[in-house]
Amino acid sequence: MSGLKVLSIASEIFPLIKTGGLADVAGALPLALAREGFTTRTLAPGYPGLLAKLDSTERVHSYNSLMGGPARVLAAKAGALDLFVLDAPHLFARPGGPYAGPDGADWPDNAIRFGAFCRVGADIAKGAVASFSPDILHAHDWQAGLAAAYLHYDGGPRPGTAITIHNLAFQGVFSSLLLEELGLPPEAMATEGVEYFGGIGFLKAGLYFSDRITTVSPTYAREIVTPEGGVALDGLLRSRGADLVGIRNGIDDDVWNPATDELLAQAFDATHLAQRPANKAALQKRFDLDIDGDAPLFGLVTRMTAQKGIDLLLECLPLLLAEGGQVALLGSGERALQDGFAAAALAHPGRVGCAFTYDESLAHLIQGGADFIVIPSRFEPCGLTQLCALRYGSTPIVARVGGLADTIIDANDAALAAQVATGVQFAPPDADQLAAALRRAIAIYRDPPAMERMRLNGMRSDVSWRIPARQFAGLYNELVNERAAFAGLA
Ligand code: ADP
Repeated sequence: MSGLKVLSIASEIFPLIKTGGLADVAGALPLALAREGFTTRTLAPGYPGLLAKLDSTERVHSYNSLMGGPARVLAAKAGALDLFVLDAPHLFARPGGPYAGPDGADWPDNAIRFGAFCRVGADIAKGAVASFSPDILHAHDWQAGLAAAYLHYDGGPRPGTAITIHNLAFQGVFSSLLLEELGLPPEAMATEGVEYFGGIGFLKAGLYFSDRITTVSPTYAREIVTPEGGVALDGLLRSRGADLVGIRNGIDDDVWNPATDELLAQAFDATHLAQRPANKAALQKRFDLDIDGDAPLFGLVTRMTAQKGIDLLLECLPLLLAEGGQVALLGSGERALQDGFAAAALAHPGRVGCAFTYDESLAHLIQGGADFIVIPSRFEPCGLTQLCALRYGSTPIVARVGGLADTIIDANDAALAAQVATGVQFAPPDADQLAAALRRAIAIYRDPPAMERMRLNGMRSDVSWRIPARQFAGLYNELVNERAAFAGLA
């Protein structure tokens, strides 16, 4: 089926507003789906930074009062993206990030901010904007979770609904006292509703009411139905098992293309690998590392949280340095982790360099210049940095969890013999196993033909949205057929 319309609901979207992988997915999937014949419009909150980046806007719907203030829905374009933007100053016209103020504390009214966002998503799904009546509503993460609940309690015709879990750890749980303010009926406060451990669970509601649940890799889809990986939602997810599918993320291979990337010191591709080392030298210079083409250079591009396991790399630093390695870390997040790396950089000048910031262009230089990208995550729904690394010829060293397990072929004896390895995996995610993985990686680095083979294997892996977009197309078509059958019965 083609010509179908998808309303995507996402609280961040690259390149307009981004705190993590959700933004990359929300920005890239519509473009990949367009090639499958689907028209996507993404509903995004009108944060000041996002409003400032729109190319054109047109008011298509208004609210005299949307949970505490007037609001407008703008149809907007930003580059190749078609958007609906919820312009609601009382909810979104603030400094700081999408979810927290400049002091890092969550906005106290996040339930209302994203409840209103979901209410508008449900209204558009039901035809509030006559020019775009969607066939599918695709919600992303807890911030969009209530949309399917509103559709349920509103009753009446509705499109098929899907929700994607990008990270089950973020669940959006709020006080039950907000039920009325959110415009939900009293009966919603039930296990068969939005109730979650006595509060209102936005993600829980989305998982309960959506026709389909997707998550961002097949392995993560298996992990989250277990008590160990289910973050208290495994029971619900098991009960929805028939409707749960793991579809791995891709990356936008126009944004991430080493052959045309102007953020690199030197563009390169698999047939011009000799040009790549110019980026390693530029990276060493940028991080005040010794300019040394022979030193294995380990890069990290990461949020600095316990999830990402970067404390394990700190534990392995003595080994890495003893083997002549260097570290370039780009990341921001928890203070204690930053302090640990800052101390390491101070203790090992020329060998360990850190940039505690969020810097899109520096991320490209690390991917294009490092020999290895280290991702020791304790859990990882999909992970995008290993996909970028593959495309840019920096070999991923990853914990064998979630999407990292699905997207990297470990350099074990069989894979090396068959010349198909693309990286090094280790399990379980602890310092001993990471140390063993680093030793294996360094041994391969010291065998230049083997290293080049692994680099090229990575660069030739398909990390694009082509295959996952086809899977989404299949899922959307199923949903539309189901709704048509339902309407036929009604
Ligand atoms: P998560 O969403 O858990 O943070 P992902 O690997 O799925 O992890 O996505 C992270 C995205 O954010 C990638 O595109 C990565 O390049 C980017 N990123 C993370 N930290 C930084 C940073 N400090 N500077 C620039 N980009 C970053």
